[in-house]
Amino acid sequence: MSMQPPICIIGAGIAGLTAALALARQGNNVCVLERAGGPAETGAGIQLGPNAVRILERLDVAISTSSHIHRTEHIEIMDGLSNSCLASLPVGVRTRSDYGAAYVTIHRQDLISLLWNKARDTEKITLRTDFDVRDLQTGRARNLLVSATDETIEAGFVIGADGIWSRTRQELFATPPPRYSGKSAYRALIPLSEDDKASDFLTTRIWMAPRVHLVHYPVRGGALLNVVAIIDEATRSPEWSRPADIVQILPHFADWPDTIIQRLNSAPGWSRWSLAELGPARSWFRDNVLLIGDAAHPVLPFLAQGGGLAIEDGFEIALHLARHNDTCGDMTNIADACRDFEMSRRPRVQRVQAASRRNGKIYHMRGVARLGRNQVIQQLGGERLLRQYDWLYAYHPPEK
Ligand SMILES: Cc1cc2nc3c(=O)[nH]c(=O)nc-3n(C[C@H](O)[C@H](O)[C@H](O)COP(=O)(O)OP(=O)(O)OC[C@H]3O[C@@H](n4cnc5c(N)ncnc54)[C@H](O)[C@@H]3O)c2cc1C
Repeated sequence: MSMQPPICIIGAGIAGLTAALALARQGNNVCVLERAGGPAETGAGIQLGPNAVRILERLDVAISTSSHIHRTEHIEIMDGLSNSCLASLPVGVRTRSDYGAAYVTIHRQDLISLLWNKARDTEKITLRTDFDVRDLQTGRARNLLVSATDETIEAGFVIGADGIWSRTRQELFATPPPRYSGKSAYRALIPLSEDDKASDFLTTRIWMAPRVHLVHYPVRGGALLNVVAIIDEATRSPEWSRPADIVQILPHFADWPDTIIQRLNSAPGWSRWSLAELGPARSWFRDNVLLIGDAAHPVLPFLAQGGGLAIEDGFEIALHLARHNDTCGDMTNIADACRDFEMSRRPRVQRVQAASRRNGKIYHMRGVARLGRNQVIQQLGGERLLRQYDWLYAYHPPEK
């Protein structure tokens, strides 16, 4: 059994590291290939719903006890022009009464470090850095992964977890590249003072206005405020963190409350990335190679669930392989497991993609549509609005 080549995962992002931990727990030897020199350092904050936190806890990733997280008690839906709170979603109460896991916010680096350190300390996982997979040669029983420096690694089963611009998807799955969505995300991390900690800035808030919305929440245990401004603006850059300037952002907030403008002005620096989208690849499995996470199904960030789906994918592929009782030896079993995985994941992924896209439209409404939207949100109230997302947050992966 130990003579089998390992399962190779391309990409030590959220999906790749979760998959490695879940597969190792089922007794598989796993090798994770990451092109960066260490744990990825790009990005800023990330929200993780109970659906994702529950899985991390099942993998013994100590997320809920980490000093880096902030537990979300309420998500407030704000109108940016009238500076009014339309509804407050009682996330904390529901996580305790129904969802069974916390809703947390965390810096992406801290999340990746938690996953990375856990993987590094797991005997069955090998982490390879500076391994930029440039070529993937698939065969009946063996696959060969070739790095940019011509180093080769043999693998039985390969998982492509290489993100939205996945080379694995592009080369093997004949899908068109992601399309730019016409929206840009500007992100900043602002230090929070002791005074701020008693203010509204510790609450997760989504501010909506015509053609722009703003999301902010604390990370690093409340030491930093993660701020994201999403603007209807057709930029086209595949980089995650292109430096940006406040003067590109401020004109979009001309009619906003002073407290917000001051907060935007206080940011030490901004970065921008162009949001792109792509429907799920037509197939996620081919020639012993499976796509997971953003590589299989990038999702717009308006439901804060791309990382959550990546965590669910990583966990569930291990369950399906275990159900088909395989540790990478029998390729027929792997094919069956991957098909089951795809069949069970696809409807949920498509539902999240559709809900995210819909939120993007709702957040940026103007004129009478904006007024109607505000009225509906106020009438529904936070409790009922949150219940509309029970399918998302109360989700439990299938048991083995
Ligand atoms: C503005 C914004 C806000 C967001 N907010 C949230 C949020 O609040 N909550 C949430 O759940 N999601 C959020 N997301 C989505 C989330 O960031 C992604 O869905 C998630 O990072 C996908 O994880 P992944 O592991 O599939 O891909 P990635 O995180 O992109 O990881 C891919 C990894 O593969 C590596 N790699 C790539 N190519 C190669 C190669 N050839 N060889 C070796 N390694 C390679 C990369 O270096 C990287 O480490 C947000 C996204 C955006 C744009």
